[in-house]
Amino acid sequence: MDLGIKGKKALVTASSKGLGLGCARSLAAAGVDLVMNARGIDALEEAAEAIRDEFDVKVTIVAADITNEDTREQVLRAAGEPDILVTNAGGPPPGAWMEWDRDDFIAALGANMLTPIALMKACLPSMIDRGWGRVVNITSQSVKSPIPVLGLSNSARAGLTGYVAGTSRQVAGSGVTINNLLPGIHDTDRATSLDQGVMDAEGITREEARARRQAGIPAGRYGTPEEFGAACAFLCSVHAGFIVGQNLLLDGGAVNSTL
Ligand code: NAP
Repeated sequence: MDLGIKGKKALVTASSKGLGLGCARSLAAAGVDLVMNARGIDALEEAAEAIRDEFDVKVTIVAADITNEDTREQVLRAAGEPDILVTNAGGPPPGAWMEWDRDDFIAALGANMLTPIALMKACLPSMIDRGWGRVVNITSQSVKSPIPVLGLSNSARAGLTGYVAGTSRQVAGSGVTINNLLPGIHDTDRATSLDQGVMDAEGITREEARARRQAGIPAGRYGTPEEFGAACAFLCSVHAGFIVGQNLLLDGGAVNSTL
């Protein structure tokens, strides 16, 4: 399917690895020029070079912490007025409800709620002026079904979801859509580190931890960044203009619900 977005420009934050990279690669495959971001320069350069070689699109990189207000400005300056915005950042650490204090919540809210809101606030006006834009926020299945050890994520992402629900309906009339993609377990560094948490807590091997986590997924496996990226590219396509304010689960059926 021709996604109809060749020549458009996207900002994809936190995109040197994992799900952000999956989104960047799928957009590049559709002919979209990219501004990519991560904190570490090496993986970012490597990912950008591979995308330039494979897809023949322009890729600009900015090594910066997207959750920091000052360094986020550098990313936004490089991005200019993107047609497409994919927001992402690292997720909060696991833990238990009695351990988290105010500072832990402030950090999680900063990274996973206020950062994507700041990015949207910066990018939406020019999308609205041009009468076309696409925003996809990478959130988590924890929005639909809380994950006990990820209470910081459950909380911050719920806040972002509320913001998107209201804001998406205010900008849809200008041809701008905002939607959220909710990953279940995907095979990335983040999944490996959460596997490690299960290994440490239960005293089991990586294979056992993975088998245990996979047992809760009807599809019987972890998702891939490629599958995730393909869903993102579709939401950014010309065909998705009537999809507004939605929360799309990509979880292999893990969340057991009718709607
Ligand atoms: P990942 O494989 O660990 O990749 C994270 C990417 O984000 C890397 O490129 C990393 O590069 C970059 N990054 C992290 N913090 C950043 C920051 N402050 N500023 C700029 N770049 C940053 O993680 P992932 O699995 O793709 O997860 C992406 C998001 O989806 C996370 O919020 C995660 O919590 C959420 N999620 C993931 C899963 C899953 O199973 N994978 C499930 C549910 C939700 P640098 O470290 O170099 O900055």
